[in-house]
Amino acid sequence: MTPLDPATRSLPGEFQVHEPPEQLLPWRTAVLDRGSARRADPGHLESVLSRPSTRVMVMGRRETLIHEGRIVFLASGEIETVSEPSGPVIYLGSALAGSGLPDGTDVVLVGLADRPDPSTIPGVPDGTAWAGFREVATELPATDAGIFIEASAISNWHDTHRHCPRCGAATDVEQGGWVRRCPEDKSEHFPRTDPAIIVTVIGPDDRVLLGGSGAWDAKRYSTLAGFVEPGESLEQAVIREVGEEVGVTVHSPQYLGSQSWPFPASLMLGFTARTEDREATPDGVEVTRARWFSREELQAAVSSGEILISTPASIARALIEQWYGGPIVDRPVED
Ligand SMILES: [Zn+2]
Repeated sequence: MTPLDPATRSLPGEFQVHEPPEQLLPWRTAVLDRGSARRADPGHLESVLSRPSTRVMVMGRRETLIHEGRIVFLASGEIETVSEPSGPVIYLGSALAGSGLPDGTDVVLVGLADRPDPSTIPGVPDGTAWAGFREVATELPATDAGIFIEASAISNWHDTHRHCPRCGAATDVEQGGWVRRCPEDKSEHFPRTDPAIIVTVIGPDDRVLLGGSGAWDAKRYSTLAGFVEPGESLEQAVIREVGEEVGVTVHSPQYLGSQSWPFPASLMLGFTARTEDREATPDGVEVTRARWFSREELQAAVSSGEILISTPASIARALIEQWYGGPIVDRPVED
């Protein structure tokens, strides 16, 4: 094995496909220490729930309690008074420095069968409302967004993986909600994440290729994206997806960064890739329009309202701005 060369952040030999990027995407440090060893201890969750300092995030139909752009956490003793839990209590982790919670505070997630009126929940401030991640993604601080994403990812997995894929028996939850085990054949099952590539395609004249789907607002343009298939490398997926969606042949795929997007279970792996092609032909299914933009054309089209691009909270926006070389100014919201 030849180790990674820290100077180039590239793999040697046959995997060497590109020069190191000038600018990587911004990334966030972890907010919670997930305690993967700790959560396997028998009685760990019971001990966490018995502590008054433990904070409880509740989730009903993929929404949580939000007040003034922050997640509202409940005290562990208040859960039974709120609503019937709809699944296992899940250990999300203990707060790290900078998380917005006191260091070491344990955070758990409880799924609720229904969503009671927030005004009826003890200790919840006036003006609290249920909200989904997409509704509040741009107003949440990165710390709360990180917790909401982790909670969404793990609860989506539990909602859709209640039975053993080998024999169909209902599985038991272990390790604070991070393992399900089959009581019949004892097989262990771990949370799933589906890798998907998302890519800026850069043309020979340095223009970027963005596309839109028929299901979207007709003005909306974004980076191309698609799921990685079994047996495929990320680089192969980039080349295949761009070829399928817009008929463009790309080379030199360059990894730039990632974003968890668990709606329901994606991990978005951000790339940029180059092409010598000047034409793009949408497949008419996943992509129904495609357009090249110079930097000046893109900023002008966004400023005039001619097109919409992804929100600043998204990896799509970060990828576009990595190509652009700085922030793109959105059109001011009209009253
Ligand atoms: Zn089984």
